[in-house]
Amino acid sequence: MILTNENYFSREASKEYLGVSQYKDFIGSLGKLGCESKALAKINGDWEIEKTTALLVGSYVDAHFEGTLDLFKAQNPEIFTKQGSLKADYKHAETIINRIERDKLFMQFMSGKKQVIMEAEMFGSKWKIKIDSYLEGKAIVDLKIMRELHKAEYVKDFGYMDFIQYWGYDIQGAVYQEVVYRNTGKRLPFFIAAASKEKEPDIELIWIPDEHLKEKLIEVEQNTPKIVALKNGDVDSIGCGLCDYCKHIKVLEKPIHFSELLGEV
Ligand SMILES: [Zn+2]
Repeated sequence: MILTNENYFSREASKEYLGVSQYKDFIGSLGKLGCESKALAKINGDWEIEKTTALLVGSYVDAHFEGTLDLFKAQNPEIFTKQGSLKADYKHAETIINRIERDKLFMQFMSGKKQVIMEAEMFGSKWKIKIDSYLEGKAIVDLKIMRELHKAEYVKDFGYMDFIQYWGYDIQGAVYQEVVYRNTGKRLPFFIAAASKEKEPDIELIWIPDEHLKEKLIEVEQNTPKIVALKNGDVDSIGCGLCDYCKHIKVLEKPIHFSELLGEV
């Protein structure tokens, strides 16, 4: 299939291609456990993630910078009140947009080509990426609207970490940089252009160094064959037992000891 903005998130595309969110569905990030069963259920159309307000606020800001806000509003009538005005969360999205537009450097980073789709054959799978702002020959920029930018996230066995590693945005950087490299022969720096949803929105341009991306790409290379085998049905998936999908399909077989509630501590 030929990838377009219209079919990029389609089921057909998710079967044929591996993307960063699908990769994270399977493998997880440091902060979020992956679930093979849920990942497959999403691909097969048996499980859909809810369009949460948090998600929609991010998409609202994305749509603004992509220049498709009118279409976004038409496709998401739930962002309006019955009286037809924007709900408070999306009014706040406007505040975030205004804050971003007040910063010259942020806007420079956001001035590339928007929503650029590329694909590459890597590690035994076809991969797809969609770049928020592609500054040809210069940089790859991804826009993130976060709750906070400087909060330390806690992960058992790892300790405190930044939101980049917690949500696996470094994995995204690794894949994006490599796919662009395989298409253009240029290894471009990867940046997260981040704004927060706080009452007073915070902004940062965050660079993830190439050496760090290289380490993450090695992980991606190691994990991809397993995902391909799972998608082909060559191996059985394992459920995480904790996500919404696993809870939904759970069938009790016997009582558990109360000490099992916390899992392996
Ligand atoms: Zn699960």
